[in-house]
This record gives sequence, C-alpha cells and structure tokens, in this order.
Amino acid sequence: MAVRPILVVGNPVLRQKAMKVKRVDKALEELIDDMIDTMRAAPGVGLAAPQVGVPLRVAVIEVDNVLTTLINPEIVKLEGEYEPEEGCLSVPGYWGHVKRAQRVTVKARDRSWREIRLKGEGLFGQALQHEIDHLDGKLYLDRLESLDALQRVEPRRPHEPEPSASGSGRRPTGTASAP
Ligand code: ZN
Repeated sequence: MAVRPILVVGNPVLRQKAMKVKRVDKALEELIDDMIDTMRAAPGVGLAAPQVGVPLRVAVIEVDNVLTTLINPEIVKLEGEYEPEEGCLSVPGYWGHVKRAQRVTVKARDRSWREIRLKGEGLFGQALQHEIDHLDGKLYLDRLESLDALQRVEPRRPHEPEPSASGSGRRPTGTASAP
C-alpha cells in the first residue's frame, strides 16, 4: 500500500487511450490498493490508473463511503444532461462547469473479476463518466466550451469531481467491490 505521485496535465500518459486489463494478478492488486490510498490521500472521489502513470483501464471511486473498483469499464447508457461543477486531481487549482449525463449505466469487472453493472447519478454518476474519460485519454477540460470557463480554486476546495448543487449525496445503486 502506497501513495503514488499523481500526474498533471501536460503529461502524455494522461492523453493515451489506456489498455484493457486481461486478468487480475499481484501487480494489478497492488496498483488498485495504491490507487485507493492515493485517492484518499489527495483527497479525491475518484482516480484512474493513467493518473498514476499506468495506462490500464482501471479506476477507483469513493462516494458516500462506498468504494467502487472498476476494471475495463464501459458506458452502456447515458440519460439526461446537466452541468455540474467538476475538478480533477490532474488539473490542480481549477474547476469548471461541464456537461454530463444525469444518469449513467456502466458495465465493468470488479477486482474479483466478476462482471458488474452499475447505475449512477449525482456525484457518483459524474465520477463514473469522469474516470472513464481518463481511460480514453480525455480530461474534463476537453468538455468545456472554452478554457476561459475555467475557474480558479480558492482558497481550498476538494478536488475531483466536486459535488454539484443539483445532485450530490445520492447513493449508487450498483454493488461496490470489496475493498
Ligand atoms: Zn480526473
């Protein structure tokens, strides 16, 4: 278990399409544990493997004390639209309003390699979309109409993604994997 350094915007790994995981082995278990430690230390509500320099399709999310580990996640369905506030641990010091789906359905595998299907809305749904974007080399900055819309964090706000006025605090309806 260890906290790993988080890459910031400008690092090419953040812009790569991450590779699919083929199986859970010791190195992957260690990566997931380190990602959880790193996310909690930041603190953030989500972290994708490319953010710690590993171009694999793995992400962790923790919202309302529910920890979710996603391996090879894919978006199955997006419904509705809203513009929550969003930040990213890889873009420290800034936040902006981005367009996101209100509800998202995702399929993935958990760390026991079981297939899981998750539905999310509010902050959890936003985090699912944000982390899956990371696995495709996308940052929320790409979803802003203009970089002029970026706001500076002051003096200190939580990072990644931030709770929105409209939909925070909803419990995810899916199953979270074991810690
Ligand atoms: Zn991020």
